[in-house]
Amino acid sequence: MAVDQNKKEFIEGNPLSGPRDSAKPEALPPEEMSPPVVKPISKVAGGFPAVLSTAKYTFKEMGAVRGIRTLLQLNQKQGIDCPGCAWPEPDGERSHFEFCEEGAKHVADEATTKRVTPEFFKQWSLNALSQQSDQWLNAQGRITHPLVLRTGADHYEAIEWPDAFALVANELNSLASPDEAIFYTSGRTSNEAAFLYQLFVRKFGTNNLPDCSNMCHESSGTGMKETLGFGKGTVTLADFDLADAIFVIGQNPGTNHPRMLTSLMQAKRRGCKIVHINPLPETGLARFKHPQEVWTWLGKGTKLADLFLQVRINGDVALLKGIMKELFDAEQRRPGRVLDHEFINSHTTGFEEFKSALGRIHWGDILEQSGVTKVKIEDAARIFIEAERVIFCWAMGLTQHKNAVANIEEIVNLMLQRGQMGKPGAGLCPVRGHSNVQGDRTMGIWEQPSPDFLDRLGKEFNFEPPRRHGLDTVHAIQAMHDRSAKVFFALGGNFLSATPDTEYTAEALRRCRLTVQVSTKLNRAHLITGGQALILPCLGRTEIDEQQGGPQMVTTENSMAVVEGWQGRLAPASKELLSEPAIVAGLAKAVLGDRSRVDWDGLRGNYDRIREHIEHVVPGFADYNQRAREPGGFYLPNPIRELEFNTDDGRAHFTVHELPQHDLKPGQFLMMTMRSHDQFNTTIYGLDDRYRGIHNGRRVVFLNPDDMRLDGFRDGQMVDLISHFEGEERVAPRFTIVQYSIPRRCAATYYPETNVLVAVRNFADKSNTPASKSVVISIRPSEKEYSE
Ligand code: SF4
Repeated sequence: MAVDQNKKEFIEGNPLSGPRDSAKPEALPPEEMSPPVVKPISKVAGGFPAVLSTAKYTFKEMGAVRGIRTLLQLNQKQGIDCPGCAWPEPDGERSHFEFCEEGAKHVADEATTKRVTPEFFKQWSLNALSQQSDQWLNAQGRITHPLVLRTGADHYEAIEWPDAFALVANELNSLASPDEAIFYTSGRTSNEAAFLYQLFVRKFGTNNLPDCSNMCHESSGTGMKETLGFGKGTVTLADFDLADAIFVIGQNPGTNHPRMLTSLMQAKRRGCKIVHINPLPETGLARFKHPQEVWTWLGKGTKLADLFLQVRINGDVALLKGIMKELFDAEQRRPGRVLDHEFINSHTTGFEEFKSALGRIHWGDILEQSGVTKVKIEDAARIFIEAERVIFCWAMGLTQHKNAVANIEEIVNLMLQRGQMGKPGAGLCPVRGHSNVQGDRTMGIWEQPSPDFLDRLGKEFNFEPPRRHGLDTVHAIQAMHDRSAKVFFALGGNFLSATPDTEYTAEALRRCRLTVQVSTKLNRAHLITGGQALILPCLGRTEIDEQQGGPQMVTTENSMAVVEGWQGRLAPASKELLSEPAIVAGLAKAVLGDRSRVDWDGLRGNYDRIREHIEHVVPGFADYNQRAREPGGFYLPNPIRELEFNTDDGRAHFTVHELPQHDLKPGQFLMMTMRSHDQFNTTIYGLDDRYRGIHNGRRVVFLNPDDMRLDGFRDGQMVDLISHFEGEERVAPRFTIVQYSIPRRCAATYYPETNVLVAVRNFADKSNTPASKSVVISIRPSEKEYSE
């Protein structure tokens, strides 16, 4: 009885839970009923455990034969594109196993044989579903029919497609202004669907096109555009075969981009040095056994990182400045042999100002803020200086801070000093986390489109696109919250779980008149709705997309700007599903009616026709239909590789940045959110994170043992986390402390559980990316422990 009471209070501590449904008492989320189990951390990534985990999940969801057949198509030329991260495939020969454990889970998750039918929603009220965990929701299977939640109802019910489109059209057309609608896009959306979607939205009359990029690599794009005039990565996979040193900073590829470990392993085996810079040591960068190299399963695996710098959270600018100071010292000792003066003189501007500003930074501040010793900084600088060709890779560990753009620009500063651009084996590699997040932006999914893009779009479709900039993700949430936006439409994604400030965002969605989600599976965003809500179920990447013109191919762009064509092979999960382009076309027809002369049906019937338009509007897509069908696809132009900088003066810019300040009060920590190994973005596959030793739970907070001693906490203690932002407090209750190797006064937690602590107004300067890795928190004991 005592346990039941405990469970109940736990659920009530979940801000997104509705009242408990007494009809389903047995269905409480298991991870919220018992503490997580902490086991020894896996010392090596990949190997047999990865194969076992892949097989277990795939066979459970898809069955053995269907599972194996599908996986053998994954990431093959003209096969199925992995819906996971955006790591590229090799240009030449591909093995039969071009996927990782995570990719296999993503595919199995999408191609599951489980189904969520209208019958399911008759049994499950919204309130009852709200009590379930994200993992449980996802595990129910593929949604088979379009569904509507009518005003005041507590159950979704089936709706016909024409009626669903009419409902959206009615709401959109009754708005006082097109700017009262928000059109979100997730990184799953193909180039074709994204292009059609932005066309529809701009024909409707707004640039309110926030996307998931606003929340991840917007800071990379902003920083690189500002300094280099180009916002994408500058390397290809082939450069990894030539680099002498690879720096991986603020990134955990073992979980988030696992096939990158293969590239790192190959680089390491030929003598390349690898430096890992991160607040947490990560198994994936310590040792790796390639799952296909069966003969290595019993060995120790390949050691990857030669040097690990355990930087404090947000200590990256300090650390990079330290490395750069070492460069200048080395240059003084060996004039003309460390800095690339010819490159600096010919291709850059702002060097002298940058140099004198760096001279004013004190080593004491660098060491204090970075938390890294001078010896280790010297080691990193030595590796950087001795390498002829260097690649710098990064991910969310750099992009989700208040000074995130400065983080990126300091990497640019470092690389420019030794001319590490425009030559094979060297360059910048922001590693994107969702398969087509880069392509969607290329297709015009952006709230700040360039005038050139709008000119070409308007000319191609004979209309005047809206010119005023739209709302990005955090400002879209605020607009819904203050009721200046009234309709929310999401092409994919789990908006509520992906975004910051969960309770605020939930309230923002509740204040909308209509919320619409184009989805494959059930998620939290379906449960927190506007006055009315729709779920529009779409085809997945693995499925045959049959249109009037026959089976269709779609294209995506990976992290290294390769555009490639893909075709699903499985029968759709339900005959009621529509493809994303078909949903957009149906919607456009219903909403725009006679106001549009675009042949939406024709475009929906044959995606070649969409690609013909893309070719006319987006630079770099000449002969799109032909080149997308070539095995392996084609590269988009990359001016940085040719040392062309599209800045105001045609040069790369050195920039000056202050050290960030976090004045933590006694008892406060700087917290970062991160993913577990059993998760892809907001999709939770399981409750284990074997690379960090966590099992059967996600509500954990990783703390340094010295801090725990100082503050009187013990391992396994249940605590509440309280964030502090501009005098406001937010609480995430009942987390278990895990003693861990993490720098002093730093804390790490899993998202989306702690998104509730990230204030919607706490975002990066210039890029507006939520500062989910710079959250000031304090910790207090929970009122109850699990056992009480
Ligand atoms: S590395 Fe990324 S794209 Fe490749 S299989 Fe794994 S999740 Fe999919």
